[in-house]
Amino acid sequence: MERPLERPEIVEITKSVDEAEGIKTIFLKSDIKAKPGQFVMVWIPRLDEKPFAISYSNKGTSGALINPTGEIGITVAAVGPFSNKLYAMNPGEKVGVRGPYGTTYRLEGKKIVMVGGGYGSASLTMLAEEALQQGIKVKFILGARTKSRLVYAEQIKKLIGTENLIITTDDGSAGMKGLVTDALKQLLHKEKIDKIFACGPDKMLKAVADIGSAAHVKGEVSMERWFKCGGMGICGHCCVDPIGIRLCVEGPVIDFETAAKITELGEYHRLKSSRKEKI
Ligand SMILES: Cc1cc2nc3c(=O)[nH]c(=O)nc-3n(C[C@H](O)[C@H](O)[C@H](O)COP(=O)(O)OP(=O)(O)OC[C@H]3O[C@@H](n4cnc5c(N)ncnc54)[C@H](O)[C@@H]3O)c2cc1C
Repeated sequence: MERPLERPEIVEITKSVDEAEGIKTIFLKSDIKAKPGQFVMVWIPRLDEKPFAISYSNKGTSGALINPTGEIGITVAAVGPFSNKLYAMNPGEKVGVRGPYGTTYRLEGKKIVMVGGGYGSASLTMLAEEALQQGIKVKFILGARTKSRLVYAEQIKKLIGTENLIITTDDGSAGMKGLVTDALKQLLHKEKIDKIFACGPDKMLKAVADIGSAAHVKGEVSMERWFKCGGMGICGHCCVDPIGIRLCVEGPVIDFETAAKITELGEYHRLKSSRKEKI
């Protein structure tokens, strides 16, 4: 694996693409080479520095995620001060970026399923592309509250075909009415799946890991916490209860066995002050 860039490199935003309501992919002029699941730290001077999963690598690969070398993509949901600012930035403006950091998803088996909620589907789409290149069959369960919040549906269709994409919305405005976990239970009942990969809200990850483990299917989830020291593994703020692994170093991608030991998954996270907040 390549050494991460430890100091922020000031890079230009080359383009931004609307993905869904309040969600954009921002392309950055950067040579950082990342694997699916890894993240970069994005710095907006005088504001903050926050982690973002890589959604487009700069390999210049063919397929649905074709992307020129020399650029990476991050998919940003506007939810608070930092993400709102990043979401509003235009091509030509600059940010700092360093990385890549963290663990990667590990592909295994002949047939796998991705379970993506919200912007979580972004890094999984990159993984789906890599799986196809290795001859692994891919199913994708893509969920959102409502149709206008679905992210990457067109890219995923192009990549794996409509027949392999299962869409769920809470209000039934697109695909099946219900949660991604309802669709996952049905799929595991019908088909032999070798591994599950999930990225999305905490409660979804907990449910996916529980369902997968109960069905004796291996899997990995990508878990988010506040990375206070910026992914350096120094401060211990992202250590999860009770096992104390640092999610910025030993994560964000962890396997189902590790997820099962984390009692705070789907229950609470820590604010910048370290105070616990219920999820
Ligand atoms: C490994 C890792 C990868 C990440 N990848 C991405 C990514 O690809 N895209 C991305 O947009 N963000 C990603 N994040 C989250 C990102 O780093 C910021 O935490 C997020 O942008 C919110 O920061 P903020 O300062 O705008 O809002 P904050 O002040 O941190 O949050 C504002 C409010 O929104 C809530 N909130 C925070 N995140 C979410 C959310 N996802 N959905 C709903 N409510 C939320 C908070 O609880 C709070 O109430 C990732 C985090 C980690 C640890």
